[in-house]
Amino acid sequence: MSETQEGYAIVVHGGVGSPRDYDDGCERAAGRAVEELAISADALEAAMAAVAEMEDDGRFNAGTGSVLCLDGATVEMDASIMDTRGRLGAVACVQGIKNPVLLARAVADTPHWLLAGDGANRFAAAIGHPLHHEISEHQRAAHDKLRRALAGSVPAMPGVDNKAFLRFWNYHNPADLPPSAACDTVGAVVRGPDGHFAVACSTGGSAPSLLGRVGDTPIIGAGFYAGPHGAVAATGIGEHIVRHLLASRVYGWIEDGMPLEQALKRGIDLFDPSISVGLIAVTKTEAAFQANRDMPRARIVKA
Ligand code: ASP
Repeated sequence: MSETQEGYAIVVHGGVGSPRDYDDGCERAAGRAVEELAISADALEAAMAAVAEMEDDGRFNAGTGSVLCLDGATVEMDASIMDTRGRLGAVACVQGIKNPVLLARAVADTPHWLLAGDGANRFAAAIGHPLHHEISEHQRAAHDKLRRALAGSVPAMPGVDNKAFLRFWNYHNPADLPPSAACDTVGAVVRGPDGHFAVACSTGGSAPSLLGRVGDTPIIGAGFYAGPHGAVAATGIGEHIVRHLLASRVYGWIEDGMPLEQALKRGIDLFDPSISVGLIAVTKTEAAFQANRDMPRARIVKA
């Protein structure tokens, strides 16, 4: 354990639109980050420990709790990490991986920053990353709920009987899909005792999603960003978040000296209220979260 541990700040979220009942999972994750800081004093290790804890929780849409794609069988996950020591790694559309956030960290040790799909899965196999193929009751129940919603009044696919949509899991034209019914990405931002910043994020994507869909979570400057002035993570419908390069814009306002609460509010206000979006961030002096829906979260600050 480090003898020299000083002030730190940790903020964790469990996805905008998720119930606050899941706050306990975020608190446990933030606690894991504190434990990790006590061991390594490394902001990135702490952020990853928090996210891996939520990936293993089973209730969040990340890791073992990830939502199923429209085919009702496939889980595709994205994750990312970044810190002010220069580490940057991400994975997109990975399958059967227990902790995508740890795989994203491993990518940071390759010459690349982002690996996707089959190549990322093979990389996981090559480094012996633990696998996870089980589909839980929680995941099935979430998919059944979505299936019922799709079979309702909203056309799942133009010209196709909704009841048959399971056979049509990649659409010619997905424009008529209803707005995302499930978000619940997880994320953590940390200011370490040495003043370094880190961010880690992980998601099963937003549902309903076509196979191959990638949101904002593994895209630098959209779902996440860390720099010498702080670290930012976003949650919400990735298709909208990427259009605003949300994490990078919020980081820019922080860099310009805007108070953190104001910068987060300005970020949320970029979006129409019908679009779920949430943000967490830490700076040299502040640690905050904001969202336009319920968002499970936890914050631990030690002066
Ligand atoms: N941003 C994630 C995505 O679009 C979903 C979420 O934050 O809940 O993949």
